[in-house]
Amino acid sequence: MDILIKNGRILDPSLQKDEIGDLYIKDGKIQKAEKGLETKADRVIDADGCFVMPGLIDIHVHLRDPGQEYKETIESGSAAAAKGGFTTIVAMPNTVPVIDNKDRVSYVKNKAEMVSPIHVIQSGAITVGQKDQEITDIEGMVQAGAGALSEDGKSVMNMKIYREAMKEAARLNVPVLAHCEDKSLAGGGCMNEDEKAKELNLPGICNATEDAIIARDIILAHDTGARLHLCHCSTKGSVEILRQAKQAGYDVTGEVCPHHFTLTTDDISTDNPNYKMNPPLRSEEDKKALIEGLKDGTMDVISTDHAPHGAKEKQGSMRNAAFGIVGLETSVALTMTELVEKGILTPLQMAEKMSYNPAKVLGISKGTLQEGADADVTIIDPKASYKIDKGTFVSKGRNTPFDGKKVKGRVIFTICDGNIVYEYK
Ligand SMILES: [Zn+2]
Repeated sequence: MDILIKNGRILDPSLQKDEIGDLYIKDGKIQKAEKGLETKADRVIDADGCFVMPGLIDIHVHLRDPGQEYKETIESGSAAAAKGGFTTIVAMPNTVPVIDNKDRVSYVKNKAEMVSPIHVIQSGAITVGQKDQEITDIEGMVQAGAGALSEDGKSVMNMKIYREAMKEAARLNVPVLAHCEDKSLAGGGCMNEDEKAKELNLPGICNATEDAIIARDIILAHDTGARLHLCHCSTKGSVEILRQAKQAGYDVTGEVCPHHFTLTTDDISTDNPNYKMNPPLRSEEDKKALIEGLKDGTMDVISTDHAPHGAKEKQGSMRNAAFGIVGLETSVALTMTELVEKGILTPLQMAEKMSYNPAKVLGISKGTLQEGADADVTIIDPKASYKIDKGTFVSKGRNTPFDGKKVKGRVIFTICDGNIVYEYK
């Protein structure tokens, strides 16, 4: 099937292009990108008034397969991603068991090829069982298709192992996606350490928990030549440290999740586990710094940290509930509403942070709408205004603090390899 997308606002960060035009897609590739195409096609999409972006890439997703398929499967998670506008996602390795060897990387890769409408890139764990004691077979995992290394869910606290792993990552040219959290400082915290935590009588997590490890990881990466990407930055300090590192010419990038630029600790009015995530919602000052970092380019990527859970993990007190919220189906709307509508990011910058930059971090030739590129395309209606309804989620997870939130901006088409994998109806 060939597709002609007419009169869309074509946003191609790879060319810094933002203009009304058409795209013609055939054989899984973008064949033509110009104005006033008169080509015939099996399917013509009128994209008048809509944003046409390179397919979105979410570099931070938890698919829960193997081991916790009641929370999410590769099939349900990738369908949720397609609905959210994503054509490529990176799956984190903290499953049960952990993705820490080549056979488990192959398991996800093979299953995704069968059941996923989009591209799934698996990341491999850095220590066996994420137990911080023994380095994994990094080369074997990369040969089996692992596109990144990550210990997400925690940090590698053993610096000797981490340094070896970073050397391997540099040698094999894969990025290290770092969850930055000092284990001893995090303790049993379940929200930001502040007045609100005192009021709710809940244990807090201080900013230094993140900042100290961010600084450590940047130093280790610089020492080893590894390409470091900082996951879900939540603090003012993390933005400042990253800004300094970039100014010094270090090869490091960072991401921010929509919940951290949308909410603060003040939005937690009761002890509600749907507001529990790691890192936690921070102060207004932190949120402002993250937004400033996104605006000035310090923060490169918007990722979701999509973390589905069953109802039982998210009931009771925040103290005992699991960390994390779902994000794949709300990310575009929150980014549009909080950043684009408010004039913080241009639509082209949104495409940069949700597609072009994540592709660069991963070292994959995506994130562009140039002729000859893979036909991964996301079409967004920026005028669609509605309330987020968790009942409509394709993900198995319903754990979101955004149910009922008024937003603007909706994914209306997701096209992956030239196939329509999601269409809003
Ligand atoms: Zn994490």
